[in-house]
Amino acid sequence: MKSQVIQSFGEPSVFQLKEIPKPELKPGHVLIQVKATSVNPIDTKVRAGAVPAVAPELPAVLHGDVAGVVSEVGEGVTEFEIGDEVFGCAGGFKGTSGGALAEFMLADADLLAHKPKNLTMEEAAALPLVSITAWEALFNRTRLIPGQDILIHGAAGGVGHIAIQLAKWGGATVYTTASSQEKLEIGKRLGADGTINYREEKVRDYVQNYTNGKGFDVVFDTVGGENLDRSFEAAAVHGTVTAIATRSTHDLSPVHSKGLSLHVTFMLLKILNKDMHKHYGEILRKITGLVEEGKLHPLLDSNIFNFDEVSKAHEYLESGKAVGKIVLKNSW
Ligand code: NAP
Repeated sequence: MKSQVIQSFGEPSVFQLKEIPKPELKPGHVLIQVKATSVNPIDTKVRAGAVPAVAPELPAVLHGDVAGVVSEVGEGVTEFEIGDEVFGCAGGFKGTSGGALAEFMLADADLLAHKPKNLTMEEAAALPLVSITAWEALFNRTRLIPGQDILIHGAAGGVGHIAIQLAKWGGATVYTTASSQEKLEIGKRLGADGTINYREEKVRDYVQNYTNGKGFDVVFDTVGGENLDRSFEAAAVHGTVTAIATRSTHDLSPVHSKGLSLHVTFMLLKILNKDMHKHYGEILRKITGLVEEGKLHPLLDSNIFNFDEVSKAHEYLESGKAVGKIVLKNSW
């Protein structure tokens, strides 16, 4: 089968078009004819060799997110049949099957769900990693309660734009940050009650403006780095900060002074641990339900790439210019 393979870690140009053997079916797995994938920052970090702890052995086929059609069903799989349209985040990492940048992908059936009927393959491929991350962060770690106010950083980011919609569905009052008017408008359209241009407004000012100086009950930090310090500053006394990019060093004094709870979601943990795969299939089934009810919709960048343009897609993500998710369509 055709695939985009990396034989060494490096720049986006490291991808090479290669013929490789079609994966062999295994019990509990299905073979997916891949129709689309999306790029997540973790895919670019794996490609660059920046995250050896989660990177697959080389040569490797990357990209976790997949949408496609089941072409073979392994022993013991009862949920899926040949011809079913499915989506999930199911390979391309350490100890997992190969990734989605190929004609076929072997996937643990526990990591999959039926694709929402009202989405295209490209739209469905945008969802798995970011929607599982946002769900885990908001409902399993934060345990968001209806009526709470939540600040979600990164209105038009992959995780941020899904988190806004899920938090609204969960009954929260939602505020969100972005760097431009265009992205703030997107935040509003997705349901945010208030928007903040983080380049123009200081934390103290928007905390005063939106919470009368009290601070937000919950801050969902999808940015990390110095922004995590701003998240501590924006949280209310006894508030919660939930973060997804925390491989950094911080002064925890504000966490102490305000008695904050700090949660971290690391989505890949349950992918790397086979016993936990079922949780992600379950979350994706809920995501499918919400999408089909019209409560959740992925935001796709207007540039759609094909699998031969994966290097360009990675460069584009790393440029920081994308709006929403970058999707690749399989035209092989
Ligand atoms: P993305 O699609 O590239 O979005 C990042 C967003 O952050 C952009 O929309 C950008 O918008 C915004 N941003 C940058 N600096 C900001 C700031 N100071 N304040 C507010 N917004 C800011 O990436 P993603 O998929 O959402 O992932 C975001 C991060 O989380 C990445 O580091 C990724 O590796 C990590 N992640 C972790 C997990 C996990 O399980 N731990 C899961 C998914 C992602 P502007 O142009 O407006 O700045």
